[in-house]
Amino acid sequence: MDRFIPYGHQSIEEDDIRAVVETLRSDFLTQGPKVKEFEELLASYCGAKYAVTFSSGTAALHGAYFAAGVGDGDELITSPLTFLATANAALYLGAKPAFVDIEPDTGNIDAGLIESVVTGKTKVIAPVHFAGHPAEMERIAGVAKNHNLIVIEDACHALGAKYKNTTIGDCKYSAMAVFSFHPVKSITTGEGGAVLTNSKEYYERLVVFRQHGVTKADDAFVNKDENAGQWYYQMQHLGYNYRLTDIQCALGISQLKKLDKFIRGRKRVADSYNRAFKDNSFFDLPVEKDGVESAWHLYAIRLKDAYKSSKKKIFEELRLRQLGVQVHYIPVHLQPYYQQLGYSRDLCPRVKDFYERQISIPIYPAITDEDIEYVINNILDVLKHS
Ligand SMILES: *Cc1c(COP(=O)(O)O)cnc(C)c1O
Repeated sequence: MDRFIPYGHQSIEEDDIRAVVETLRSDFLTQGPKVKEFEELLASYCGAKYAVTFSSGTAALHGAYFAAGVGDGDELITSPLTFLATANAALYLGAKPAFVDIEPDTGNIDAGLIESVVTGKTKVIAPVHFAGHPAEMERIAGVAKNHNLIVIEDACHALGAKYKNTTIGDCKYSAMAVFSFHPVKSITTGEGGAVLTNSKEYYERLVVFRQHGVTKADDAFVNKDENAGQWYYQMQHLGYNYRLTDIQCALGISQLKKLDKFIRGRKRVADSYNRAFKDNSFFDLPVEKDGVESAWHLYAIRLKDAYKSSKKKIFEELRLRQLGVQVHYIPVHLQPYYQQLGYSRDLCPRVKDFYERQISIPIYPAITDEDIEYVINNILDVLKHS
């Protein structure tokens, strides 16, 4: 095998390249028509009223938390089995993440444990749809309603996923849903992200936050100075430059057309692995619960007890065989920065156990049948000899 097979990879085709080049030849490289067009297509794909693009999924999380009014001293509930940004974006605003343990099979936040960490300062619940498998949104929305909390989905893994006849991003069970368009995600714009919402108020706050906190005279929601002319702009909040460019949005538009095909491609890989690894004695397979269609961002295997202590060796051997396996994730609260903030190492024992067993194996739409077979044979061979 002369080629490294990564755990995830973008699919860029000639039409994507043409779309980007056309934009490079146009009048607008940024803040032009492609941004609006991509946002409208995203909102329509998901079935939400509004989509606001951001320069990354991280910036989009920051924007969503800001729009929800998260600020100094507030608390935001999430699980530590996630990329750092879910929690970091709360810290950006002076808020404090409160970590809740996961369901041992899906890796998603355990909705039954959320109430135990709600305090008078809790403002937001931010469930992560781990590996593209939607969290228990109906139950989470129920807890949020009982305690008057705002639900913001970190849906960075889950563009294209379905939950109980709803599409992730339609915000049926949440105030906002956040996506990332990093190359390993469902579709890519290089770097990029978006927030979906049905609320006009959140939409307006998101737009302003992304452009330095500034509104223009022609914005419908500006509070205009009566002596001001067309030059007028007004800064009402401390915002950022978090815009996505037209070049990137042109790529996003082209990619979005292929999203359903990409998800089918990922499902095909998952089905092959599910068949090949059925009833194996080395590791547990990812689950797909009734009423849910995963976006299959990751294919996460979990080593059984007898193999758990050999994970480092197994991982190294797989890498030697050119398999780009990865681990998702080192629990956020165990990171030195969070340790220094005072989070106990004993929080969320199921997350720690999941981390100790978990390995992500290659899954992406363009992986060939030959590579899938290579992955399967080598994983079984390495484990047989462990
Ligand atoms: C990718 C990702 C993010 C951040 O997205 P970027 O576009 O890389 O900033 C946040 N949360 C989760 C769960 C992610 O997977």
